Amino acid sequence: MTAIELPEIELTGPVTAAKPCALHPQAMCPAFGALRVLARIDGAHPVMATDIGCNYGLTFVTHFYGSRKSLLTHQLGTSELMQGDVVEGTRAAIEMAAQEPGCELIPVISLCVAETAGLPEEMLPTRVGNAEVVLVRVPAYAIYSHPETKDVALSTVLARLGEQDGPRADKTVVILGEVFPADPLAIDHLLRRMGVEQTIVLPGRNVGDLRRAGRVGAVAPLHPFYNRTITLFRSWRIPVVGGAPVGISGTYAWIKSLGEMLHLDPVLVNQIAEAERAAAQAVADHQPIEGTVLVTGYEGTELAYARLLIEAGADVPYVSTSIGQDPLVLPDELWLRRHGVRDIIYRKTLEHDVAALDAFKPDFVLGTTPFCNIAKDRGIPALYFTNQLAARPFFLSGGMAATAGFVRNAIAGGARAQWMLDFFAE
Ligand code: SF4
Repeated sequence: MTAIELPEIELTGPVTAAKPCALHPQAMCPAFGALRVLARIDGAHPVMATDIGCNYGLTFVTHFYGSRKSLLTHQLGTSELMQGDVVEGTRAAIEMAAQEPGCELIPVISLCVAETAGLPEEMLPTRVGNAEVVLVRVPAYAIYSHPETKDVALSTVLARLGEQDGPRADKTVVILGEVFPADPLAIDHLLRRMGVEQTIVLPGRNVGDLRRAGRVGAVAPLHPFYNRTITLFRSWRIPVVGGAPVGISGTYAWIKSLGEMLHLDPVLVNQIAEAERAAAQAVADHQPIEGTVLVTGYEGTELAYARLLIEAGADVPYVSTSIGQDPLVLPDELWLRRHGVRDIIYRKTLEHDVAALDAFKPDFVLGTTPFCNIAKDRGIPALYFTNQLAARPFFLSGGMAATAGFVRNAIAGGARAQWMLDFFAE
């Protein structure tokens, strides 16, 4: 790939120069992203290969995220690890998983501990009964953020299950990304009006969808961290549409690209793209956002959120994310830099975000729990990315209306945050 030159911008010193604290962890256990994606598949029964201490926290994840199934694992404490029981114990857990009713897939998730991270794949079965056995390696020391372990998990099971034989479903599109449940329905509805016959949402709940995904007409990533999964689709010669249907210009460009990629009726595609652009513009005109907003998070969607907020009228000087820089985020990064964003930090730390808080004096903050707490301590209204913002539509003009309206209301409530600060200071 040829290098793309970024425009010269003046970086703001305090943010880029912020020194990360080496004593505080900057991320939670990333394995939970992979576990969540794999445990949610109907007919999948994950087996964990790791130290008993990891299982303690990660068992919680399978219940908390609604998969309604328990992990299967050999209890590996220090003595079992020293004795070399890892392969035997894992094989026993696989045998037990295969006996679960309707079991079609057994992801074996190997984690940080050296003995399990190096679990030899050739010593595990590839199939037991009706179930495919797939080793998924997600050690935290090698994968920085939990979104990126979702990509590892999905690409690994897809590589095994995605079917290449049989006719191509040229008018079927894979929508890639875990999003608010109404969003895939809205996107599916729009795409069908354009002439798309079917959409498949990954990561999803259906093993059959993983199999069919190998023969679709195009893949549309909604999140920019599915790097390995996209590489896999490309190896299958399935084209990838860039960007995402977010905001005014992003939605318009996405609809046009997808229509062209699938050879859909250009007149119809143009009509739909124009209508969506007009609807999103109407949202920006009728619900303008005023104020300075910092957009900080960990999933990589922060750049798209920032783009939407700028189109709605906000000043966004700073965007940070936990994922690494990637060609998938480059269109949004270039757009943001052209529209006044001064600092865009990948692999950010809490210290970067706090430096931005000092430097830009925002009216409102979107961020992770610890950062929002710091902002609120200063009387700045703040919303958590995961629980509050990601819990509402985001894509197409309907998503723009929901997101812009929510942020606008939060900024309007800013005086209350300062009132509370003053109240407790007295
Ligand atoms: S040791 Fe690794 S896998 Fe286990 S809980 Fe810690 S970060 Fe997660």
